[in-house]
Amino acid sequence: MTSFVGPDIPSIADLQNCIHCGFCLPACPTYIATGQELESPRGRLHLIAAVRDGRIEATERTLAHFDRCLQCRACETACPSAVPYGRIMEDARASIMANAPSAQPPSWRWRAVLLRQVLARPRVLRAALGLGRLYSRSGLQQIARSPLRRLLPPRLARLESSLPVLADAPFRTTGTLAQPEGATARVALLLGCIHGELYPRMHEATVRVLAHVGCEVVAPEAQVCCGALHTHAGDAETARALARRNIAAFEAAGVDAVIVNAAGCGAAMKEYDRLLRDDPRWAARAERFAASVKDVLEYVAGRDFARDLGAVNETVTLQDACHLAHAQRIREAPRTILRAIPGLRLHEQRAPDRCCGSAGIYSLVQPDLSAAILDAKMADVASTGADVICTANPGCTLQLEAGVIRTGLHAEVRHVIEVLDESIRAGARVAST
Ligand code: SF4
Ligand code: SF4
Repeated sequence: MTSFVGPDIPSIADLQNCIHCGFCLPACPTYIATGQELESPRGRLHLIAAVRDGRIEATERTLAHFDRCLQCRACETACPSAVPYGRIMEDARASIMANAPSAQPPSWRWRAVLLRQVLARPRVLRAALGLGRLYSRSGLQQIARSPLRRLLPPRLARLESSLPVLADAPFRTTGTLAQPEGATARVALLLGCIHGELYPRMHEATVRVLAHVGCEVVAPEAQVCCGALHTHAGDAETARALARRNIAAFEAAGVDAVIVNAAGCGAAMKEYDRLLRDDPRWAARAERFAASVKDVLEYVAGRDFARDLGAVNETVTLQDACHLAHAQRIREAPRTILRAIPGLRLHEQRAPDRCCGSAGIYSLVQPDLSAAILDAKMADVASTGADVICTANPGCTLQLEAGVIRTGLHAEVRHVIEVLDESIRAGARVAST
């Protein structure tokens, strides 16, 4: 029998916060897409409470409702009763995965094995990405994205559009990345397990922008994957092991702040204190570390970033990354930055903080629901007339790029920091003429 076991069982106090008002329902992308109570935050909280109390067993059917949750935490923002939905769902998943392997649902067990053996092991991950790089550079990917794409079966075409273009050299540089004259702060950059492999240009832009705001930038060699996807998949033990390694690596760098340019990773690292709360050797260190983690946009917006900016004549719409807006509660920083850029027109979506359906590996494990959520997002994006879709997370970038391919929209997807970097470089060009 599968039930909740282990150290992370959702707390009664957290669950009792829910007053069943239903305010969260219209904010939930899976409820909007399905109209079903059991695909809503309130419905899932009922299920979690019932499993906790032993009223129902955690069957595959019950767990399928957990699985369809994006963990986007939009329900937390909407909730008037401050229900900590994100940690309840993470605890529920961890308490299922704490069962003996034979009592874990097979799909969950395999997912955890894959995340542990691939994402948490840079050599294996790089070998797998090497195959993807071969595909991108062979020209086959270009053919698959040409008008010939119509010849592919629809499911295959959709899967292909979700693959990243791995044409550029990855960003794997460690050590000192920038040392501007007169630096007033020393910061460390999280490279992430996959971010620098998929989007090296985002790290390059981040380093230049941090140097512009007077930061010496380092990347400790011993850093590892942040463990966000492991936490979301219920593999709390792997997440804790990765957290300990990161804390030790970044502590040794002796920096003022740890900068993260992926909202999902930043949210996870800001919660290392909770992850390691029961570990007497690490709890205090985890608390200090979590307080030092900053999203790059929050950090840059708090410094003198707006001097010497040049024009970026683009119409931009901002996709609020769920783990920036809902988990880290950062909404103003990206807007402050974009509004400061001369020539840039910011056109807001009707629901900029509604999930795009990316959610880590959700687009792979729930392809139909993810596609329905993405379609709604792309309709909202198209209504803004933007030629640039700004994000703050590599997963969202990948998903929105897939949306652009599928809809044929003429728009580029870029991190906010890339647009700021473009503006800084335009300003430098003007100053040098
Ligand atoms: S989670 Fe919050 S918003 Fe949703 S039903 Fe419970 S109390 Fe209401
Ligand atoms: S985390 Fe997102 S998908 Fe899951 S219940 Fe909350 S709003 Fe819905």
